[in-house]
Amino acid sequence: MSTKYIFVTGGVCSGLGKGIATASIGALLKASGYKVYTVKMDPYLNPDPGTMSPFQHGEVFVTDDGYEADLDLGHYERFIDVPLSRHSNLTSGQIYQEILDKERKGDYLGKTVQVVPHITNKIKDFIKSSAKNSSADFLLIEIGGTVGDIEGEPYFEAARQFHHEVGDDNVMFIHLTLLPYLKTSGELKTKPTQMSVKELEKRGIHPDMILARSDYDIAKELLGKIAMFCDVPENAVIPAPTISSIYEVPQNFAKTKVPSIIFKKFGLDDKKFDLREWNNLVKKIKSSNGHSLIIAKVGKYTSHGDAYISVDEALKSAGFAHNVKVKIIAVDSEKIEKKDKKELRNLKSADGIVVPGGFGVRGIEGKIMVAKYARENKIPYFGLCLGMQIMTIEFTRYVLKTKNVNSEEFDRKTINPVIHIMHDQKKNIEASHYGATMRLGAYEARLIKDSLSYQAYGQEKISERHRHRYEFNNDYREMLGKNGLRVAGINPQRNLVEIVEVKDHPWMIGVQFHPEFKSRPLRSHPLFFDFIKASIKHQRA
Ligand code: GLN
Repeated sequence: MSTKYIFVTGGVCSGLGKGIATASIGALLKASGYKVYTVKMDPYLNPDPGTMSPFQHGEVFVTDDGYEADLDLGHYERFIDVPLSRHSNLTSGQIYQEILDKERKGDYLGKTVQVVPHITNKIKDFIKSSAKNSSADFLLIEIGGTVGDIEGEPYFEAARQFHHEVGDDNVMFIHLTLLPYLKTSGELKTKPTQMSVKELEKRGIHPDMILARSDYDIAKELLGKIAMFCDVPENAVIPAPTISSIYEVPQNFAKTKVPSIIFKKFGLDDKKFDLREWNNLVKKIKSSNGHSLIIAKVGKYTSHGDAYISVDEALKSAGFAHNVKVKIIAVDSEKIEKKDKKELRNLKSADGIVVPGGFGVRGIEGKIMVAKYARENKIPYFGLCLGMQIMTIEFTRYVLKTKNVNSEEFDRKTINPVIHIMHDQKKNIEASHYGATMRLGAYEARLIKDSLSYQAYGQEKISERHRHRYEFNNDYREMLGKNGLRVAGINPQRNLVEIVEVKDHPWMIGVQFHPEFKSRPLRSHPLFFDFIKASIKHQRA
């Protein structure tokens, strides 16, 4: 079968869950036996989100091939369970950078370089090469932002041209909108949806399906009204009500026959799909609602709900696997530093503590205090990247009773840099080359046989994704090992420490990588699974 292309666009406003909708459609197509791949088009001018603040943009997701990606790629990987790569995310920054470099080299032979055709051609080429590289049956392409956004225009124009070139038999448009609720008249309004479809049509695109998001049940007449005014078959106006768990979306789209409509559009036979795993997951989510386990997530980006979205989902997924509901409480490390009573109470209510990744000195001392509290009180502690570095600093300062211990990231002149800059990173810092220069992507680690980590993974050789510039300083390895901070995982190629464990503690593990990126709702990550197990044990003790 030649690749079928599905564009997912958004109308009315942002934040409606286009990423989840795209991912859920992908999950259904995969459950029907098709090969699925996804692409996110981001109209912003940053070449990638790697340098963007989690306060503004949420989490930076990392793929195996070391691409720093939009967090929607995390949704796609979690729902479709296919490893993505740099072929899955295009930004305007990447396009302009490439085109301007070519222009400076004289590659355009004196021609005027323009949005149409140069930018639009690049967008179309990216789509075609993603289809080719992935050899997908279905390529889902999500256009970021909302129709009408100035910066999104080239993407809509490229999509229109793509439809024209590849043909209506091979291209489908799905438009996601919102039906706002008016409290005074007690009704849902369809006019913004109608207007946003008109915006699409102004750009030469007619939707084949409309997903109508709403916080309330949508009456059948209203779906009919949208169908009539937007000129879409009535069965292709799909209600997408707000639900308690995002993992119910594939089920909901299955009930409203989204796959059948897609197959019909492409002239394919209606296929049966196997949703047993998703149904089981939703059953587990619903049945685990009674029992709550409290996990404190200690960071400074706590004000942005999506800053640690993969960590949150990995914790929740491990909870589903153990049939417990994981309640994540955000603990602000700066408040801990200031000994804020409420924040200390929050921390003390936790059955387990996670210190996730992060950058910069702000809030660091608070995190070290948290690691000390977890170690001394034998509370399960899971350090992710920065959280591992924090754990190492804490241990050296307070168990080895060593003075002036820090990471070179926070104190460049520290006397005892237990965490130091990686050799090949110095030049990047000196030259201020911050974009896409960290140690990024999948690297191998070998686990030490008698470690907790080895028991959790059940295998010696693992591969996990990285995103860091600093590392465990091997000069301190022997001394720390002798005193109870043992190395449990090593990158054999470069002899880098990947995992440390506190010996006299039920579960205190720090990893230099980001296991959260490889956790799936249907397949909990071994370390998260084990951490939640230890936290349950701690709660029950
Ligand atoms: N800031 C630390 C480093 O660069 C940790 C990075 C992270 O947590 N992703 O090594």
